Amino acid sequence: MSTPIPSSPLIRIADMTWYEFADRVKGDPIVLLPTGSVEQHGPHLPLVTDVILPVTVAEAVAAEMGGMVAPAVSYGYKSQPKSGGGNHFPGTLSLDAGVFIALARNIINELVRHGARKIVLFDGHMENQWFLVEAADLALRDQAMLGRTDVKIIKLGYWDFINKTTEAVLFPDGFPSWELEHAAVMETSIMLHVRPDLVRQDKIPDDPAADFPPYDVYPFDTRPIPPTGVLSSAKSASAEKGAAVLAQVVPDIAASLRAAFGPSSD
Ligand SMILES: [Zn+2]
Repeated sequence: MSTPIPSSPLIRIADMTWYEFADRVKGDPIVLLPTGSVEQHGPHLPLVTDVILPVTVAEAVAAEMGGMVAPAVSYGYKSQPKSGGGNHFPGTLSLDAGVFIALARNIINELVRHGARKIVLFDGHMENQWFLVEAADLALRDQAMLGRTDVKIIKLGYWDFINKTTEAVLFPDGFPSWELEHAAVMETSIMLHVRPDLVRQDKIPDDPAADFPPYDVYPFDTRPIPPTGVLSSAKSASAEKGAAVLAQVVPDIAASLRAAFGPSSD
């Protein structure tokens, strides 16, 4: 595996002993919980692309600012046609909303039970977003009923930190939308940068952007969905673009979290 991210056993909770975890959590660290999906990402990217990317970015943020990364929630809410190609593609293994909310709420409560007070829901799969909001809200209510009001949760999608300069590097010919970016230039570029061994470079598709009506019908009309499951061209993806995204978003996310949580002794 080729990874540009400095990793340390003291960043990944999964790699810690319980002694190390107990010691680290005393310093009131920021705890990042990546959430992703098992979802088709075209003919060229693996099903767990939405797990690899937030884990990679979260670990880089933790390496930059301190903090620790919890084992990821690797399954996500159902793939939606306009942002993920749809739930019907083979290999797309999704959770019902209630299951996803309960899982995320339970993990938040467990982190708090063991001393974490600054938690970041670090999303890599757009469809999770409102269910993460609900999980955070219910977990805060659970904690308030236990008399604990010092818990702070931040929810983010790492792509929302891509600024205009990086956007121009990624899309010199114009930006489609983050929804249509599914398995396209941004995700393919970061994968080429961090896990080139998993990118089928001879299969990167070059289809025009999908054209959806401004309403949804259920069952969904699958005709506007490109048969590859990729919602806009991935042709111009490159490892250099992936490196440019990480070089910009990692320090920017770290700065935002520092500002949002205030000083930490971790
Ligand atoms: Zn994705």
